[in-house]
Amino acid sequence: MINKENYQLVLEKVQLKEANLVAVSKTKPQEDIQALYDLGQRVFGENKVQEMVDKQKALPKDIKWHLIGTLQRNKVKYMIEFVSLIHSVDSFKLLKEINKQAKKVNRVVDCLLQFHIADEQTKFGLSYEEGVALLASDAYKEMQHVRIVGVMGMATFTDDKEQVGKEFETLTAYFKTVQQDFFADNESFKEVSMGMSGDYEIALDKGSTLVRVGSLLFGARVYS
Ligand SMILES: *Cc1c(COP(=O)(O)O)cnc(C)c1O
Repeated sequence: MINKENYQLVLEKVQLKEANLVAVSKTKPQEDIQALYDLGQRVFGENKVQEMVDKQKALPKDIKWHLIGTLQRNKVKYMIEFVSLIHSVDSFKLLKEINKQAKKVNRVVDCLLQFHIADEQTKFGLSYEEGVALLASDAYKEMQHVRIVGVMGMATFTDDKEQVGKEFETLTAYFKTVQQDFFADNESFKEVSMGMSGDYEIALDKGSTLVRVGSLLFGARVYS
């Protein structure tokens, strides 16, 4: 069951900031995705490749599928033909594999560099230095089949709004310096993916262009 009121509310706030909404549908049934689709939503986020592949086959073909979670290299090939944006590039090896698979199907696949901004050890992502080293490398410059269109990050899971706000500011600062240093003439580098159900309003205030909201729209997830 989707929550229409929350959908309208989130959409309004997102549009007010000229940002975009990724509806995170992981673990949720196809009927729920179809229901949100019928209200006009076209961008959906999943964190498991197999689940995304199954849903892509069954649902309308104009849905844009975003992969938002930790991605194993050996899974890239299963979604390479249709994935619209990969939010979670957190290593050079992963980017290399995406480039290799995208070449096989003659695509250029959009990706975000995921940066570590939380104070928790458990959250993945590149350090700022690692991200810069990747972008400065010759091996990256030779990749013809990936296009890096921005950055992504996850804040610490905490009620401390000030801390969350600071972490989002850090990601926006990373975005700005990377844009200046590597993408100065490149208008496609424009996305800052940050904000989830609990913190998307803070993220919008701090410059998010893509919020990834799940449970507010679809209800709490139940993991068995
Ligand atoms: C699950 C998930 C979300 C959405 O989380 P909610 O709290 O349900 O909005 C956003 N981003 C990532 C990377 C996720 O894994």
